[in-house]
Amino acid sequence: ALPVPDKQVDSVCPYCGVGCQLTYNVKDDKILFVEGRDGPANHGRLCVKGRYGFDYAHHPQRLTKPLIRRADAPKVPHQTIDPDRVLDYFREASWEEALELAGSKLRGIRDTKGPNALVGFGSAKGSNEEAYLFQKLVRTGFRTNNVDHCTRLCHASSVSALLEGIGSGAVSNPVMDVTKAEVIIVIGANPTVNHPVAATWMKNAAKNGTKLIVMDPRKSDLTRLAYRHLQFKPDTDVAMLNALMHVIVHEGLVAKEFIEDRTTGYEDLKKNLVGYSPEEMAPICGIDAETLRETARLYATSKGSMILWGMGVSQHVHGTDNARCLIALSLMTGQIGRPGTGLHPLRGQNNVQGASDAGLIPMMFPDYQKVADPEARARFEKHWKLKPGTLDAQPGLTVVEVMHAIAAGKVHGMYIMGENPAMSDPDANHAREALAKLEHLVVQDIFLTETACLADVVLPASAFPEKTGTFTNTDRLVQLGRQAVNPPGDAKQDLWIIQEIARRVGLDWNYGHVSEVFDEMRHGMPSISGITWDRLERESAVTYPCTHEGDPGEPVVFIDDFPREGGRAQFVPADIIPAAERPDTEYPMVLITGRQLEHWHTGSMTRRATVLDAIEPDPVALVHPLDLERLGVKPGELLTIESRRGKVTLYGRADETSPRGAVFVPFCYYEAAINRVTNDAFDPVAKIPELKYCAIRITAG
Ligand code: SF4
Repeated sequence: ALPVPDKQVDSVCPYCGVGCQLTYNVKDDKILFVEGRDGPANHGRLCVKGRYGFDYAHHPQRLTKPLIRRADAPKVPHQTIDPDRVLDYFREASWEEALELAGSKLRGIRDTKGPNALVGFGSAKGSNEEAYLFQKLVRTGFRTNNVDHCTRLCHASSVSALLEGIGSGAVSNPVMDVTKAEVIIVIGANPTVNHPVAATWMKNAAKNGTKLIVMDPRKSDLTRLAYRHLQFKPDTDVAMLNALMHVIVHEGLVAKEFIEDRTTGYEDLKKNLVGYSPEEMAPICGIDAETLRETARLYATSKGSMILWGMGVSQHVHGTDNARCLIALSLMTGQIGRPGTGLHPLRGQNNVQGASDAGLIPMMFPDYQKVADPEARARFEKHWKLKPGTLDAQPGLTVVEVMHAIAAGKVHGMYIMGENPAMSDPDANHAREALAKLEHLVVQDIFLTETACLADVVLPASAFPEKTGTFTNTDRLVQLGRQAVNPPGDAKQDLWIIQEIARRVGLDWNYGHVSEVFDEMRHGMPSISGITWDRLERESAVTYPCTHEGDPGEPVVFIDDFPREGGRAQFVPADIIPAAERPDTEYPMVLITGRQLEHWHTGSMTRRATVLDAIEPDPVALVHPLDLERLGVKPGELLTIESRRGKVTLYGRADETSPRGAVFVPFCYYEAAINRVTNDAFDPVAKIPELKYCAIRITAG
């Protein structure tokens, strides 16, 4: 007979930004199975990751003791340590010894080489409270703004454009609003793979008559239900979007009153669009002029049009420009500020929205209050009981910049909590060499990740079901995740570890329950100030903005004005900027990286989840069948992908969804870490790297 659970604990899925609520069924401190719960974003549904991706938490490779690198074990940049030979490289230590070593080394670097010689990478896989405390530790204990996390690699450009254009970096409408829209544009996103439950609402809408327009160089599963698939050429987003706006202007489909009453900068945008006629852009983007015209009319004239986008838009050197175009499209047609309209950058990780809101970014304090703003610094100095003038006014380094700063000898110590830059950073060979060069690297994680293999001190942390905290999904829903089981061995709660490091760099912190951290956080963040811990325990989820107790929260925003000067949104024109590295005779193909349905980011959790790893056990490259044939590779055979920066060998999979000449590779496989190949050129505004485009060549074998 199947074992019967002895308790059920309500929580939130640890994977994507959809934020599905679930229930852990537990027996003898082990999760037996997971069920979907009736949350606002999922109404009982779960995808394969949410349903089956839980037993990583009980995996035998979990870190259970603090580790200190052995003196005779030098850091080798590209080494992945065999889990059975960990003790050849590290020795087990007590918490006291490991924390003392980590704290004293970080303190020593700060005091001898200056605060900016230190960096902290937090994580979107942790809770809001962990993100908040981590950035507070870096800002007040390390005394630098050098703090960042994976938002830099996913939607930093979308957030920059949204903050600039409409004054808020979050979504305007929840995903579920697709059921109220007449037209949905999904651009540069593959929701059936990356936001599967959200994709079910889009599919339902399409089946009920909503016109779904998919814009993507790849033919995602969603295109089966699409009214139109605009399969534009990779890297030509601005050409295509400007052509749509050109049509709207020239056919008089703009929302005149909306533009006059609620925006600025329209005349400059209009002037800029002159050279972007559909006829001129068609050969560039690969979409014929009539289709561009019809799409523009459809979007502009419907009662409600909504745009959702993913990292196909954001991960380019022109990612901010791509997002600026989407914002302009919605503003010029007044397709924002009502249910069934608006802008929705689909957030990737389950708490990337919350971690960014909580200030885990180098240029802003919690709630996007700029570090360069003297009034914001004064507010946080008061809130954190610091002497006036303590907080640094200089924005810190971003993820890619950090790796270059280490190589240049400017950064010497790092504290990384729950991130795996050895796998996730572009040009990962360079990133690994930089990490190995650090004088002192402290890694806090649940497994000995590729990054932890390069650490001096490894601190064993708690997995998602082992802690309580809040997580903010892509819809701005703050949700409560509850502890279901205990961490294994001597592994500790992340909040405890952050606090112990803080004490050892000189901070006098005494937080008890996680609710104390949340309470401090909400009093410094106007957007969530009305959300109390009691309410979260009662309701499990509250949408922000929620500015006073009793405020129901606002799922749809910008109904009356935009949170910018004068309440007006701003048009920002964009011109075509090509990718940093175009194909040539030596490297004639294009590499696009991303995720798979079954695996999550760098794979540290899902590749240790039995069911998920059984479904997708090996590294694969998705190549058009005709390209495979030309290369002389049969499906299932090995091929090698090489760029100017590195190469990997993996299995070829015939895939008609990829356009000829472009190859898609998931970045979750350590044995074929595709970021060794990608380019670290970045968008000058948001500093997001161009993970969606670089030049490669492929050879058989
Ligand atoms: Fe988890 Fe996202 Fe799947 Fe929902 S859709 S179960 S949040 S991975």
